[in-house]
Amino acid sequence: MSLFFHCVHVKFCSSTAASGMYKIVRPAVGESLREMPLAELKNKYRKLSSIEKARSGWEDEYEVSSKQCMHGPKCKLANYCTVGRRIQEVNVLGGLILPVWGTIEKALSKQARQSHKRLRVVRLETTADNKRIVGLLVPNAAVETVLQDLAWVQDIDD
Ligand SMILES: [Zn+2]
Repeated sequence: MSLFFHCVHVKFCSSTAASGMYKIVRPAVGESLREMPLAELKNKYRKLSSIEKARSGWEDEYEVSSKQCMHGPKCKLANYCTVGRRIQEVNVLGGLILPVWGTIEKALSKQARQSHKRLRVVRLETTADNKRIVGLLVPNAAVETVLQDLAWVQDIDD
């Protein structure tokens, strides 16, 4: 059984018959971890009259969430905000990072947000060509500072 509900965001809900709970799938972030009982679902969301309305609402949000966070165009963090964004840009510094470790650490320590100051090693695999990359995660807000502070590395290469 499938139901379509609508409020601010469009959600697709399907029941997991055994438990009477509903799985929630959002266009921007996919399946939600938390399941919802029907009573709460009916309380929070309104059932749509037509599948066509559900489809167009879903497609609109799917499109918008590729470029915009869930706070909308007036978000304080603008392009840096990734909350509810379907497509996120992540900067990973790979290659020979040990020699520049200290420089990056210093650049990140200048960041305003506590979560951006921490050095984080990430591993990722690209979907297009299954390339594996290990590197340091550079928060989007810190990219400029890090690049500035790494300018001396380029000088050595030249
Ligand atoms: Zn935001």
